[in-house]
Amino acid sequence: MPRLYFDANATTPPHPEVVEVMRQAMAEDWANPTSTHREGQRARFRLEEARREIAASLAVAPGELVFCASATEALHLLIRGLALALGDRPAAVFPGEHSACLNPLRDWSRIAWLPELPRDCATVVQMAASNETGILYDMPPVLDAVRVRDCCQAWGKVPVDLSTCDAAVFSGHKMGGPRGAALLWMRPGLPWEALMEGPQERRRRGGTEDLPAILGLAAAVRHLTERQAKHAALADLRAAFETEITSWNRDIEIIGQDSPRLPNTSCVLFRGRNGEALHASLDLAGFAVSTGSACHSGSVKPSHAIMTLGYSLEDARSVLRFSMLPDAQPDEVEALAAAIKRLT
Ligand code: PLP
Repeated sequence: MPRLYFDANATTPPHPEVVEVMRQAMAEDWANPTSTHREGQRARFRLEEARREIAASLAVAPGELVFCASATEALHLLIRGLALALGDRPAAVFPGEHSACLNPLRDWSRIAWLPELPRDCATVVQMAASNETGILYDMPPVLDAVRVRDCCQAWGKVPVDLSTCDAAVFSGHKMGGPRGAALLWMRPGLPWEALMEGPQERRRRGGTEDLPAILGLAAAVRHLTERQAKHAALADLRAAFETEITSWNRDIEIIGQDSPRLPNTSCVLFRGRNGEALHASLDLAGFAVSTGSACHSGSVKPSHAIMTLGYSLEDARSVLRFSMLPDAQPDEVEALAAAIKRLT
């Protein structure tokens, strides 16, 4: 049996068209979009064409998008840039945010954990979907605060609604796009200061644009509707998987099972079991899964996102995350359930 990959929330293989577009762009569109000669102008044209295409799919204006190299970078630019403008006032933050979001928040003078909303709150940070549990979250109804949304896990899996936020971040490699391309979207007029100086991206993010990666991202966006439809169809497959493993063993619990969730994600608590050991056994058996956030793997630090849901340290060490690619097949998911049964 070939190896089976159930770690789509960590990263996804690029769509074949993305690979082809990038191969061609690296061979042909290598000029610097800031150069004023003909080669540079062609690169500039292709860059702006990609920006228009991506902006249209998000229903925003092209000039509101800033290309970055990763969502981690985009979140740092956004949150630190807001702190420079507003950081003497408090920020209200969802405690289960990704570390790429929590780390730059250290620049704020005061952080309150949602649902607490301090008076004079300057920004509210609430991810659209949790990378670990897949739980979907609404933006709290706040006025007079900059509403920040990390859409990395939602993009390409469920519809993304930008009407309830003022700034958002998207990652290419979670939705069939490449590494090296991510988006920062900001409504015009936000109180924000740029951190990376340079003429590119309207002085909001200095550094020569990675045109092949950006063209690859635009190619992935062309398949977004189809990708989202495939994800919607995963809900039944996921339900069958969860029923199968929980009916087998009463010490297995699906975290967030009753909440609205990403259709590809099962966050599973194997109560009393060592998650790291089970992860290693599944890997040996041919299954790539995750012990939680990819950024934590390799370290024994338990997931803060699980513990903020009220689970103990011991429980957090007993969790595995299974996240399906949009093309997951019933026999592959059955094979995973069978391996879990064998090993638990
Ligand atoms: N935000 C969330 C919710 C994520 O899942 C990730 C990646 O794991 C990131 C941010 C960081 O994305 P990138 O790998 O593009 O830096």
